[in-house]
Amino acid sequence: NLRILLKSRPQGRPGPQHFERSEEPRPTPRPGEVLVRHRFLSLDPYMRGRMSDAPSYAAPVALGAVMEGECVGEVVESHHPGFSTGDRVRGARGWQQWSVAHGSTLIKLPDQDGVPDSAYLGVLGMPGTTAWVGVTEILQVKPGDCFVVSAASGAVGSVAGQIARRMGARVVGIAGGAEKTRFVTEELGFDACVDHRGDLASALDAACPNGIDCYFENVGGPVQAAVFPRMRDFGRIAFCGMVAEYNQDPPPPGPNLMALVRKRLRLQGFLVSDHPRAWKQWSEVGGAWLREGGLRFREDVAQGLENAPEAFAGLLEGRNFGKLVVAI
Ligand code: NDP
Repeated sequence: NLRILLKSRPQGRPGPQHFERSEEPRPTPRPGEVLVRHRFLSLDPYMRGRMSDAPSYAAPVALGAVMEGECVGEVVESHHPGFSTGDRVRGARGWQQWSVAHGSTLIKLPDQDGVPDSAYLGVLGMPGTTAWVGVTEILQVKPGDCFVVSAASGAVGSVAGQIARRMGARVVGIAGGAEKTRFVTEELGFDACVDHRGDLASALDAACPNGIDCYFENVGGPVQAAVFPRMRDFGRIAFCGMVAEYNQDPPPPGPNLMALVRKRLRLQGFLVSDHPRAWKQWSEVGGAWLREGGLRFREDVAQGLENAPEAFAGLLEGRNFGKLVVAI
């Protein structure tokens, strides 16, 4: 069982030097437990927080422990009445090839629904559910809203924009580079997409001539600084994450907040983990959209568990193009 352990806590950019490989015997399931062979590992920005022991909403990964992460895989041995050999499941955990888990912590994937298993880590998994919560519960998007989302080609942003568009908003993405911005308009169907590597302020002025009603914040940093002064009166911002700042210690200063008063803005941070009911809701709604071809997604697949550390470093620098997963 190849496992990737956390070796040291990075200052700034994480890299392969902060991880170490370990080979151990395959774990043995006890009564109630299930042995899972991992097929795909999800790599997500929150993992940068788990590498740090700074105060957060979740405990850090201990030094020498296997890195945290969600997987989909296949049941190889089951001592739980709910699972049989060959079942495909999600909920297996860790940057490793195998794991044992109590059956109550695993969810069986639907049979032959035409959706690839890895999609349960992305569009129909935690990132998709995050987009659903942010757009429907936090921003409560209304028809005619000008809705802007950053990291628009990524796991959360791509879904958030498509949901907002179905709710009647005019949707503008922000992404890095011509290839990503083209994908966001041509493949995902956003109304516009601007490149944050160019003159973002002018591009936003052109794409949102009347200002921004809803901003779905995924990156922070200079992107946030450009969006903030373009919010309209009574605008709403959902703070989902600030991936551009995760490698910066201390984080850069934020914008002047007097605009909150002048424009009567509403800002709210949120965590998908506070919305357990949304998972089922989104898997039903999003699953139906996906099967009828009304929801697009893109995956960026790194090959081999040993390449997870470098792929993860790239996620915090925009080198992924779509939901980043590792094929194990
Ligand atoms: P993505 O698939 O969107 O990948 C990250 C993207 O962020 C990159 O592709 C890149 O897109 C952009 N990015 C990375 N570094 C920088 C940088 N330095 N400057 C500008 N842009 C950068 O990741 P996810 O969809 O998984 O996550 C998006 C956000 O959602 C993150 O902030 C994450 O922490 C947050 N999140 C929050 C959750 C919650 O419960 N609150 C749950 C899940 C995710 P580009 O090249 O286009 O700039």
